[in-house]
Amino acid sequence: MGSFNNEQVCAALRALVDGNDRFASGLRSIETFLSATRMKDLAEKGQTPFAIIVTCSDSRLPAEILFDRGVGDLFVIRMAGNVITPEVVASVEFAALKFKTPLCLVMGHTRCGAMDAATQIIGDGQEPPTPFLGQLIEHVRPPFESVRRMGCDHRKGDGEFLSALTTQNIDHGVSQILRQSEALSELAARGEFAVLGALADLNDGRVRFQGSAKYFGLEADSLHTFDPFPSQPL
Ligand SMILES: [Zn+2]
Repeated sequence: MGSFNNEQVCAALRALVDGNDRFASGLRSIETFLSATRMKDLAEKGQTPFAIIVTCSDSRLPAEILFDRGVGDLFVIRMAGNVITPEVVASVEFAALKFKTPLCLVMGHTRCGAMDAATQIIGDGQEPPTPFLGQLIEHVRPPFESVRRMGCDHRKGDGEFLSALTTQNIDHGVSQILRQSEALSELAARGEFAVLGALADLNDGRVRFQGSAKYFGLEADSLHTFDPFPSQPL
């Protein structure tokens, strides 16, 4: 990946990094308090969210709170395990094409129940509780197999497998969005749109970004990144 010159992509990432810094430090911006007064304005003028967030449905991951943003700022798509289904891709396309939202974050998190379930269902061969849950977990099979190919053994139960599965599932999500959508990959090739992986730590609410985020013009010390193959359990 070369360097990104698109100011909108860089500004969107900077706003997310700064917002998460505020959240993790216990601060709130004035925009979040003004959300109620901005509703009417946004209803009349329409929305222009600056970032798309594809994330897990986990109740501990409210995107607007984690990034300290108000109404109208984030186009959030939530799906257990932040798996990328055709409907998720369509929702990303909708925001990117209609609102020209320049950045999409695929955000996974530590202690994800869907990663646990995938380990039991794919790894241990347990029967999924329902057919629909089985279908959802199938989306985790490709990253599951790639972690297994790396030589990780889920039966060791030391957290190493789960950590690698979490980060590989994020990487897989990022590549799936661009692979599945011709429209989005064309926008990305023109530098008008970017997809980036992120990992939220439920212990402190800190969001870390894929290493390639450093190409987006942020100062290295303001950017927390995560290892795609974590050597320590997350
Ligand atoms: Zn989760």
